[in-house]
Amino acid sequence: MIYFDNNATTALHPEVLKEMLPFLTSQQGNPASNHTFGRKAHTALEEAREKVAASVNAHPSQVIFTSSGTESNNTIINGIAKAYSNSHFGYSSIEHPCISEPIKSLVSQGYKISEIPVDSNGIFNVSSISDKTKKSLTFLSVMMANNETGVIQNIAEIADWSKKNTIQFHTDAVQALGKIKVDFEALDIDAMTISSHKIYGPQGVAALIVNKKIDIIPYMQGGGQEKGLRSGTENIAAIIGFGKACERSSQNLVEFKENIGRLRLILEKALLAIGAIIFCENSNRLSNTTFFSFKNIDGSTLLTALDRKGFAIASGSACSSNSSEPSHVLLSMGVDLDLAQGALRISLGLESTEGEVNGFIDTLKDEVDRLRQMAAVAA
Ligand code: PLP
Repeated sequence: MIYFDNNATTALHPEVLKEMLPFLTSQQGNPASNHTFGRKAHTALEEAREKVAASVNAHPSQVIFTSSGTESNNTIINGIAKAYSNSHFGYSSIEHPCISEPIKSLVSQGYKISEIPVDSNGIFNVSSISDKTKKSLTFLSVMMANNETGVIQNIAEIADWSKKNTIQFHTDAVQALGKIKVDFEALDIDAMTISSHKIYGPQGVAALIVNKKIDIIPYMQGGGQEKGLRSGTENIAAIIGFGKACERSSQNLVEFKENIGRLRLILEKALLAIGAIIFCENSNRLSNTTFFSFKNIDGSTLLTALDRKGFAIASGSACSSNSSEPSHVLLSMGVDLDLAQGALRISLGLESTEGEVNGFIDTLKDEVDRLRQMAAVAA
């Protein structure tokens, strides 16, 4: 099987596993315990926090460990909502459901929300926020890079605009980390989400990076871990792995620039030659991500056929569930329903090779020809 679904999750890197193993195979202690085992766990936890912070140029005290990107996003939204009762939440129309759903759920509690559309190239522009919305907005979340299209937003500009308008700004950088440079301090943002399993770390661990100036009231309550912002004993082995994966993430940047971008060029040239429409083709995108569709070919049929031939790729909505709903990202860009329904995503990874890409192209050509012939017979 060839794995081309690295935006969904990545394989655990052997160096990451090596760092985790001692914490999985021996008594790891509770970092809150005041004995040798506990102190050892506490030291390891703080070392991992330093590595995570360094990878995004944040201070270790700004790193709150959580169980997932989903939890980090829910924590910031619910935490702000609890702290500011009359707040107005804005989010882009292409956010992952773990941003849009918790925000939408605030409506029933009396909060105001605004979904802000992107343009037809998948790009978010602050100019599309009306003056009226701008005046009352208190929180805005715009993702750094989209999980489906790979489009990278101009976060520095949006953060600057938010600051000028006294709006708290959060970015979901889950897909950006390890693929492009992420600099929390330079961007001067209030909060940011990152997740371990997208950067060759273990699943089930992530972080919310928070600027100390923002006030959030925790929605997870209990033992007061993570400075009271996320109670619950930390998952030490996973956090150690996350720390190592973050440490390696700068090496990944080089690989993404030099190798993965070159592979995608080969892939996209071939896709265009067989009639694919590549979404956001001319936008600034993550170099590993291609989101495409073929007119009159059912995406899920093609995905299943490719899976049978040994290639794992994703449909538009694969990041969130098994749903066969058309991609909300494409619909919000104004893409035709049929094309959005049939969209498929290839996300290359560090271990992808030119041989794999060429093998994929040959198989794809055969399968597309076969499906086109079947459609012609049926018509
Ligand atoms: N945000 C984005 C942009 C994602 O792509 C994902 C997962 O696909 C998440 C958040 C959720 O992260 P996690 O799987 O760690 O909950």
